[in-house]
Amino acid sequence: MEQTIRTLCEIYGPSGREERVMAAIEEMIKPFVDELRYDVMGSLFAKVGSGGKKVMFAAHADEIGLVVSYIDDKGFARVAPVGGINPINLYARRVEFANGTIGVVGVEQRDVAAGKVGWANVFVDVGVTSKEETEKLINVGDFACFKQDSFVQGDFIVAKALDDRIACAAQVEALKKLNKKVKNETYFVFTVQEEVGVRGAKTSSWSVEPDFGFAVDITGWGDTPLCNPANMKLGGGACIKAMDQGLVVAPKIKKLMIDTCEANKIPYQIEVLRGGATDAAAMQYAKAGVPCGVISIATRYVHQPSEMSHLGDFASAVKLIEKLANADYSKL
Ligand SMILES: [Zn+2]
Repeated sequence: MEQTIRTLCEIYGPSGREERVMAAIEEMIKPFVDELRYDVMGSLFAKVGSGGKKVMFAAHADEIGLVVSYIDDKGFARVAPVGGINPINLYARRVEFANGTIGVVGVEQRDVAAGKVGWANVFVDVGVTSKEETEKLINVGDFACFKQDSFVQGDFIVAKALDDRIACAAQVEALKKLNKKVKNETYFVFTVQEEVGVRGAKTSSWSVEPDFGFAVDITGWGDTPLCNPANMKLGGGACIKAMDQGLVVAPKIKKLMIDTCEANKIPYQIEVLRGGATDAAAMQYAKAGVPCGVISIATRYVHQPSEMSHLGDFASAVKLIEKLANADYSKL
């Protein structure tokens, strides 16, 4: 299972440039689905099962990144954020463009010392001396993401883009486990452009028109020495969201998720996320409203080049997805 996560995390795929991630997912899930399709925006839909209720799971395939906004006469590229990326996390990092060009994010030591690492002080250096040379490699409007290998150490996995490829991997593994035997008409959607405003989830949930929806995403953490107090611990089990900035989970959905964990001995923890939201923030507004929940995986150093999650939590999330796909929704 860890290889699925690592493979997906290492693929290039900033928001709006998810095609390679989708192609890899499609290859992985093809034998385990009844129907595969894409929508206009590029989200991938995998349908399994029939009968029961229409249940939709959504994990986003995009990752945060950069877009080139200007190239100066010496060939240095200025960049704008794609999603919630802090320039301080770019300092001395490598970033990769779609055509394989790798750039180093340059920041002057003077600015680092003064604590002035903002968008005005960072630039991408692709190893050239003129604008003409740079334009042979990258151009204004080209997207980049972190260039970073993944690794596993003990029960922990470290990679770029665990947000949200670990959840894509969880959906892939749940599809394999279900192997087309599902009591509900279930849609596993791999959405685009979550990081720039849950855009893929808006169209895909209108397309599915689910009776119930679940986002699968990473969440914050509360177990490093100097972090803000929070309930989520790595290794504490799958997180069941109570609330974030985009969703208040209905009591009946939260109860269904807790009961499902208890009945199946799935380790879980309750999550309140003070900053951020997920695809469920959009899913809840489809048609006349969709009751939504979120299965989250506690992750440290979110939106940084080395995010860290726990493989036990991943396994719990996979199991919870599998059981929720087969849950009885008739009394809700
Ligand atoms: Zn996410």
